[in-house]
Amino acid sequence: MAQTEFPAPGVPAGGLAPPVLAGRDLSKTYDTQRALDGVTIEIGQGEAVAIVGPSGSGKSTLLHVLAGILPADAGEVSLAGRRIDQLGEAGRSELRRDEFGFVFQSGMLVAELTAQENAALPMLLSGVSRPSAMATALEWLGRLGLSGKDKRLPGELSGGEAQRVAIARALGHRPSVIFADEPTGALDTRTGRETMAALLDAARESGAAVVVVTHDRELADSLPRTVVMRDGKVQR
Ligand code: ADP
Repeated sequence: MAQTEFPAPGVPAGGLAPPVLAGRDLSKTYDTQRALDGVTIEIGQGEAVAIVGPSGSGKSTLLHVLAGILPADAGEVSLAGRRIDQLGEAGRSELRRDEFGFVFQSGMLVAELTAQENAALPMLLSGVSRPSAMATALEWLGRLGLSGKDKRLPGELSGGEAQRVAIARALGHRPSVIFADEPTGALDTRTGRETMAALLDAARESGAAVVVVTHDRELADSLPRTVVMRDGKVQR
């Protein structure tokens, strides 16, 4: 089909927006251990995707490569149609700060900072003024059911509450993609389910895509799409 002249820049003639995040033919080997073996994956804007698979199948490596934490040996990563795999360390760290949000297994909150200060941290690092960052952090804490707990230190929060602070922290600077690596792995089943629901709701509200690595199949089933990995490959 001939190209029309009408689509907006970056939008193909078919009218579909490019995926917000795409990895193509990604390979990664640690010493002799092949962790990724030609993985291709596309994440749509605002889409929530679970990456599941047995331990050692390459899930975390894929997440780290897509997030620009770890360089792949081969393949391409694009954010909104722009190659990001060729950026240097400074460019990748800027990207992680401005475009991505992260939620890890055990919150990784700064112990000496209050819930509100923890949630405000990425915004402060991105250059948002302190009053504005603190106000936005408070709003997100409220949306995540943490009203009145903003002055608490991480040690004064339950595991589920701490994870919700981590979710607020991941969302405040309006990233286009949130990466979550076993975000409920340290929580009991019920709190895990509630935390995942809070993450998905909050991401939907801010329009962020979510990539969740988990080995919990039931949890993965609560997301609209599941990608299964085995031996460094995506199972089709
Ligand atoms: P998963 O997240 O599915 O458990 P990983 O991506 O952590 O899988 O690991 C994929 C493979 O790469 C495994 O065989 C693992 O042992 C290996 N691996 C992961 N990280 C390292 C590392 N830093 N050094 C050496 N081997 C690693």
